[in-house]
Amino acid sequence: MRIGAHISTAGGLEKGIERAQAMGAETIQIFGAPPQTWRRKAHPPQEVEAFRAQAAAADIWPVFIHAVYLVNLATSNRQNLIKSQDALIADMVLSSAIGAKGVIFHIGSHRGAGYEKVFSQIVDSVRRVLAETPDDSWLILENSAGMGDSIGRRFSELADIMKEVASPRLKVCFDTQHAFSSGYDVATTDGLAETVDEFEREVGLAHLVAIHANDSKCPLAGGVDRHENIGEGHIGRAGFEVIVAHAAFRDLPFLLEVPGFPKEGKKPEGPDKENVDRLKAIAAAVG
Ligand SMILES: [Zn+2]
Ligand SMILES: [Zn+2]
Repeated sequence: MRIGAHISTAGGLEKGIERAQAMGAETIQIFGAPPQTWRRKAHPPQEVEAFRAQAAAADIWPVFIHAVYLVNLATSNRQNLIKSQDALIADMVLSSAIGAKGVIFHIGSHRGAGYEKVFSQIVDSVRRVLAETPDDSWLILENSAGMGDSIGRRFSELADIMKEVASPRLKVCFDTQHAFSSGYDVATTDGLAETVDEFEREVGLAHLVAIHANDSKCPLAGGVDRHENIGEGHIGRAGFEVIVAHAAFRDLPFLLEVPGFPKEGKKPEGPDKENVDRLKAIAAAVG
């Protein structure tokens, strides 16, 4: 099991590797563009090369890109749908260039239109993204926290898309906070066993390529996407002992997307060494 985190690449892609090393991350996720806007700047070839070289030298792998938060393949706004597809395509191209595995993204919300209404639009969008991007980039669906009308709160929704698209390049990322928030009790041995069984039955563990390891500010089935530092939330240290010990997850990269702890009176700035160390210690303790 490799343990790492979402890392800021402010100041250039290769800056992300320095930050990853400073916190002891063995695997990383980055944004290919600022997550709250559609704007993106090109990464010049020197920057891409520097990133590849530094990631290799630092033995940091696998690398993933997380798509911008604006992506919504279930939107009823035609323009935003095209922008969403284009943003995913740009990230898939970048993923291939920097030697990353692929692009993890939130499918989006139908905002009341109904899952059945938007299903074929999602499938068509995924097909377009895959068709227009390099074969060595995976497109990775993330399970949702069940907020609003978000798609992917049940594994069956992910499975429907996987089956319809039927591409070996379409994969799944499992977020522990999102699962917990949408009612899967990943924090207990029995609850996690049931969760993994359902995942295997619906999606298939063979398609699972990454874990977002996040504790939860919201209680079980609370339906809110609020991450908490490892051991500080409703999943808790005991919950993560159960999670890292499960055979289904043992060979997967664990990526932290937690708020971080405040340092020297400064506001927390996301995943930090303290959280990486905590998860590593839990993994070491359960062997
Ligand atoms: Zn996540
Ligand atoms: Zn989340």
